[in-house]
Amino acid sequence: MGNVVERRTIVVGSGCAGLTAALYLARAGLGPLVIDGDRPGGQLTQTSAVENYPGFPDGIGGYELVDRMRRQAERFGAEFAGDQIEMLSLQGKQKILQGKEKPYQCQALVIATGSAPVPLNVPGEKEYASGGGVSFCATCDGPFYRGKIVAVVGGGDSAAEEALFLAQFCEKVYLVHRRDRLRASKIMAERVLACKRIELLWNRVVLSAEGDGKRMNAVMLKDAGTGQISHLSCAALFISVGHRPNSAFAAGVLGLDENGYFRSGCADPVSSAVPGIFLAGDCSDPLYRQAIVAAGTGARAAIAAERWLLSQ
Ligand code: NDP
Repeated sequence: MGNVVERRTIVVGSGCAGLTAALYLARAGLGPLVIDGDRPGGQLTQTSAVENYPGFPDGIGGYELVDRMRRQAERFGAEFAGDQIEMLSLQGKQKILQGKEKPYQCQALVIATGSAPVPLNVPGEKEYASGGGVSFCATCDGPFYRGKIVAVVGGGDSAAEEALFLAQFCEKVYLVHRRDRLRASKIMAERVLACKRIELLWNRVVLSAEGDGKRMNAVMLKDAGTGQISHLSCAALFISVGHRPNSAFAAGVLGLDENGYFRSGCADPVSSAVPGIFLAGDCSDPLYRQAIVAAGTGARAAIAAERWLLSQ
């Protein structure tokens, strides 16, 4: 393979899992190369303020948080390459990554490619994201809407969890679902139905988020049965219609679960089934999806990679 970029360790993904892994690998003298991906900085760069990352009592901007992590990793020698990995393959113990720009090769690989929330693709969704009322994470942005009326769209466990979380401090939570039955597990559905602050709007499709150009203040809904259109006043719309892990590039080498998340290969969740490939952050975590958890698994993956290299 011509012009292959060779390193002892490579991290794919530059969200907080990848950057934390890079920091640990760099401090261990393993000179990691971080391949940025198409969204450098990951999901945090889409969040306006982060209030639940320990160490920042006044909160911190999502972009600033990942920028600080990146500079911290660079300080110890981590390098960055702006490329998008399209395929992972193996050549003996070597891991081969085919990027859009170049091929790469390494001994130990940390995959931290994250996941992306599924968008609704409706008018107003992009316009009011990042602080304007449309959010993909109640844990991150919910507390900004304390005492307000908000809406959640979706009918799975994630939407149920978001609605129950918001109901703890919002005046009212509308749960908008396109069918007449929740997909969520029985226990979650029962909790949602029993919660007095949650009102279910069945058979409703979100058509748009409406507002004054800076902040949204309503969503437009369509009744899936009658076709009737209605306006629902609310300060925020939390979109929770599923996540897609960014895992397709490695599907031929690593096991994926039924939702496309990487499966760990043993009791240690950061170790994949392939020796020398480690998993960090949301690409292998359907449950928590939090920056602090991603950073934690990034550190674990790097330590596991370092130990594995020592054993070779
Ligand atoms: P799911 O795929 O389970 O649910 C997605 C929901 O969004 C469905 O109700 C679906 O509707 C709806 N939906 C999808 N696309 C659209 C759209 N374009 N417009 C409107 N609604 C839409 O995703 P989740 O993120 O909820 O869960 C993913 C996995 O993670 C599941 O296996 C879940 O059990 C698991 N999970 C577990 C948790 C826990 O155990 N505590 C917490 C969170 C997730 P429809 O039903 O009509 O298809």
